[in-house]
Amino acid sequence: MYTENNKGFTIITNFGCDNHCKYCITRSHPILQNAVTDKSKIDWEYLEKCISESEAPTINLSGGGDPFYDWRNNIDFYNRVYDLAVKYHKKMDIHTRVLPDDIELIAKFRKIALSIENNDIEAVKKLKYMLPIIEKTTMIRIINVLDERMTRESCIQYINQMHDIGVKQITFRQMFGNRKAYQNFLKIKDTINMPGVLFLPDGEYHNYYFTTNNKLYPYFFGYTEEDRKVWMKKYEDIEQYCG
Ligand code: SF4
Repeated sequence: MYTENNKGFTIITNFGCDNHCKYCITRSHPILQNAVTDKSKIDWEYLEKCISESEAPTINLSGGGDPFYDWRNNIDFYNRVYDLAVKYHKKMDIHTRVLPDDIELIAKFRKIALSIENNDIEAVKKLKYMLPIIEKTTMIRIINVLDERMTRESCIQYINQMHDIGVKQITFRQMFGNRKAYQNFLKIKDTINMPGVLFLPDGEYHNYYFTTNNKLYPYFFGYTEEDRKVWMKKYEDIEQYCG
């Protein structure tokens, strides 16, 4: 597992999304600026240099918008990143809310971190159907960003719901920039101790290559710890409500 001292390498895409997350980290993001990734402007030479210099054993795709949004039109992108991963002896991971129906595509990934909200019945149904097929080639971990309304009981209910359909790995992640949710995470995290269930504190676990401006950042919000602090404060002011 990556830590703040042993960072992974993440490529931030913004292919768009239609997910209406309970909390959007992208809308007000200072580097993304809600800009959509223009694939023709990705600096593949520089991206390759960054990948070749990274000691991380995996290349992670994340957003931004969702990296699997409109996946049928982005196969060329996944294939190109996959070729780089193979060239530099790395595996590929993805953090998404979308499960493509294309098993050949899914099989390119070592692990899928799939975000699913508590009440997203359709997503749970689709996962239930696809899980046995996915698990033949790829690991899967379910992610739930813990908001200010969740309780120990609703977390357990969520875990049981996931266990019922066969999911073994579940992460509750601490929400960035929402004070009440941040505190709620601290309140709940030590009250649940179950195999395969992880409570992941907010933190900087990757270096981030933004495809929207072709720059590499050690923090999701910029170059320094101070940038992170400034934006955390701003997000506390603008993103308090999870709709
Ligand atoms: S997928 Fe990303 S961009 Fe879309 S609503 Fe969720 S956090 Fe915001």
